[in-house]
Amino acid sequence: MSSDLFSSSQVSTVIIPANEMEKQGEISSRLVLVLYPFQGHINPMLQLATIFHAKGYSITIVHPEFNSPNPSNHPLFTFISIPDNLLESNVSLAPADFMNLVSALNRNCAAPFMKCLKQILDEKHPHERISGVIYDGLMYFAQTVADALGLPGISMRPTAAALLLFSVIPHSEQEYVFESQIPELQPLELEQMLKSMSTNTTETMAEVRAAALDATKRSSGMIANTIEFLEHAALSRIREYSPAPVFAIGPFHKLAPSSSSSLLQEDGSCISWLDKQAPKSTIYVSFGSLASLSKKDIVEIAWGLVSSEQPFLWVIRPGLVHGSEGMELLPDGFLEKVGDKGLIVEWAPQQEVLAHEAVGGFWTHCGWNSTLESVSEGVPMLCTPCFGDQFLNMKYICYVWRIGLRVETELEREKIQGAIKTLMLNIQGEDIRNNAMEFKRETQLCLREGGSSCKSLDEFTDRILSV
Ligand code: UDP
Repeated sequence: MSSDLFSSSQVSTVIIPANEMEKQGEISSRLVLVLYPFQGHINPMLQLATIFHAKGYSITIVHPEFNSPNPSNHPLFTFISIPDNLLESNVSLAPADFMNLVSALNRNCAAPFMKCLKQILDEKHPHERISGVIYDGLMYFAQTVADALGLPGISMRPTAAALLLFSVIPHSEQEYVFESQIPELQPLELEQMLKSMSTNTTETMAEVRAAALDATKRSSGMIANTIEFLEHAALSRIREYSPAPVFAIGPFHKLAPSSSSSLLQEDGSCISWLDKQAPKSTIYVSFGSLASLSKKDIVEIAWGLVSSEQPFLWVIRPGLVHGSEGMELLPDGFLEKVGDKGLIVEWAPQQEVLAHEAVGGFWTHCGWNSTLESVSEGVPMLCTPCFGDQFLNMKYICYVWRIGLRVETELEREKIQGAIKTLMLNIQGEDIRNNAMEFKRETQLCLREGGSSCKSLDEFTDRILSV
């Protein structure tokens, strides 16, 4: 990961480590952070923990037993595992069962979290106070527990802030607001999303949405992993409606360098392979931690990559194709044909890959973390969203920010080859490549002292954590 933005002269708050404060007889502050146990949520929460630790806060991470992060990668934080009873709740981990999983976690974790937080309060050092409970927006039970114990609850949003429009604008006004009042956001087709949300609603979905909305209203504030300039129109509208202040302090991973929180082993060999490739020559291909592809998709991607004639780094994680390790699905003769021109790994150190000068394009499923990581490095994107908010993110990338191109879900090798060439080489892709570089520059400005994310972080600590 590039660390050029982190020189101490650019950190806007004086850092006094918590143990130093104790030595000086001052009260130190602890933050309790509650994780939602999936990669795309674990990463931003641990990055946020690193940001606050650098600001002098002690950190306790509370997480369900399922998909526990590895505490030894974060020796400065205290980790507490709480029982989640997911096995007994009989929920599947498939994206289609997402709402049942969220509902079960909130039902099962509330009581253990109350017990755990009371214990922390009972045991706490006389020179320490708990300044707040920061919870992933999907772990909304934490707000109820924080309220009961008189602690500020803060919701962390690891997705595009635009999704908050559905939470903060009263249901009766949503259609009107989305249709007529946010011209900058027209390409996001929020009305269409609203319609599909209301036609496909199950009882559990309605219950989860209502409980999450209720928690949001009671929270002392919301921290969004987004950047003011990326989502200015959505953020302004959210702030008009939201009772809780919203702080855009992303991209978290650039505000404080943090250790890896990957659940899978990262294959670092790809960095030395990238070192041998020409600047901006390589397309990086990864569809995140949950999306799945068909066997035919793998074959089409394989031949599409070969015929693009660009070097490629491709992540095929176990399970990318349901029930398979992945590599065995590659077509006969493919690896021989590729030779040194391509590399396939099971899991990559993605932030480092995207920051590498050899990478000139990212073919992504448009997960929000991947999107922000690519924006931060000025890497233009090919977009194949698979489910959920990935479609909204794709619309931001391709039609609002214009830093990417869509590749239709029905993957075909000729189209893949054409899309890679347009994105990385052809004159038709020049504006997209230039826009992406401009976004990198804008992002760097936001991270400097006085930049929007730094100011928002300072405002958050002053307004919410110092009370
Ligand atoms: N990631 C990684 N190595 C990989 C693929 C992904 O470290 O080979 C990380 C990536 O940097 C990002 C996270 O996994 O932080 C994926 O989150 P995202 O929101 O993009 O997608 P999700 O996995 O939640 O669908």
